[in-house]
Amino acid sequence: MELLEKRILKDGLILPGNVLKVDSFLNHQIDIELIDALGAEWKRLYADERITKIATIEASGIGIACLVARHFNVPVIFAKKSKSNNIGSDFYTTPVVSYTHGNTYDVIVSKKYLSPEDRVLIIDDFLANGSALRALINIIEMAGATVVGAGIAIEKAYQPGGRQIRDLGYRVESLARVKSMINGKIEFC
Ligand code: 5GP
Repeated sequence: MELLEKRILKDGLILPGNVLKVDSFLNHQIDIELIDALGAEWKRLYADERITKIATIEASGIGIACLVARHFNVPVIFAKKSKSNNIGSDFYTTPVVSYTHGNTYDVIVSKKYLSPEDRVLIIDDFLANGSALRALINIIEMAGATVVGAGIAIEKAYQPGGRQIRDLGYRVESLARVKSMINGKIEFC
């Protein structure tokens, strides 16, 4: 999506460790008009899919998912980072390897908010190695619900997550696909 690619080139910063910093418009300060345009695009792409719920992961996905959900008129559910490993049986839980922090943590979703009738669209800011997306897929499928697909703002296509998850048969619609970030230069697929 040209609008997003232009914005990444204008305001994105490349940090050590292969991290693209876009916190002036995507995941710290949020440009509402831009995210609204992303939402309209995902709505166009998933128009016929009878989405009943949007799912994302705490924390940076939440703001984006809420704006996107306005286009689908459905609730947002976000996987919470678990504070305890003794959370009882009312939750689905699965581990996530954090790309930006390098640690592993568990996320949880209450069993109350996902059911086998749900057709779920996953929304997230980034796709890198795919751990966050796989965790959400796991949780949705534990509930017997259907993963319709994913809407990713920025996929770092030179990392394996997107390919691996598409190879498993899931639909992934990334609106900017970064081919490389070398010598301070960002190139798109
Ligand atoms: P994955 O689980 O696919 O390896 O990484 C996805 C998660 O890591 C995203 O939810 C995002 O929060 C974070 N992430 C991965 N790569 C980047 C990056 O280059 N920049 C930023 N800001 N976050 C990233």
